[in-house]
Amino acid sequence: MLTEILTDEQLIDLYTTPGYLVAVDYPKKEVKLHTIDCMLADPISSVGVKPSKARENNTGEFWVSESRDEANSKAEEIAKNKGYTYTICPICNR
Ligand SMILES: [Zn+2]
Repeated sequence: MLTEILTDEQLIDLYTTPGYLVAVDYPKKEVKLHTIDCMLADPISSVGVKPSKARENNTGEFWVSESRDEANSKAEEIAKNKGYTYTICPICNR
């Protein structure tokens, strides 16, 4: 099931759950696929995504699914609709 992540806490709570994060960065016009345990998908990390802030400032959106196929389809759909670049994170790609 695809779930939209609206707050940092929501994502932090999912950290130990296997799954995938679709991170959409509006200013960078970029969609990135991460595993949930990637450091770039961790709001606690200084380099991690910050869903609460992104929502507040309207700079991005985030989706989580336990299915890689489903996350991948969502990422491709957003990238296509918005004309963004879609990349799979090189750090957590597996
Ligand atoms: Zn990653």
